[in-house]
Amino acid sequence: MPIYEYVCLDCGEKTEVMRPIKDADAPLACPKCQSEHTSRLLSLFFATSGGRVVAGGGSACSTCSSSSCSTCNL
Ligand SMILES: [Zn+2]
Repeated sequence: MPIYEYVCLDCGEKTEVMRPIKDADAPLACPKCQSEHTSRLLSLFFATSGGRVVAGGGSACSTCSSSSCSTCNL
């Protein structure tokens, strides 16, 4: 099971979590402030596959409200 890293857009807390690939884009509540305003960072396991950082994750973009925003990555 791959490890994903998420960053909280509200408090900046970074969290690593092991979860199924199908849940990779599911919202993750911040363990520090409980906000679901989190963004998935580059997967540790798949860091070399493509080398492209996928921004947005399953959380709504704070700038444009898109669910998979790659243009206004914070
Ligand atoms: Zn937070």
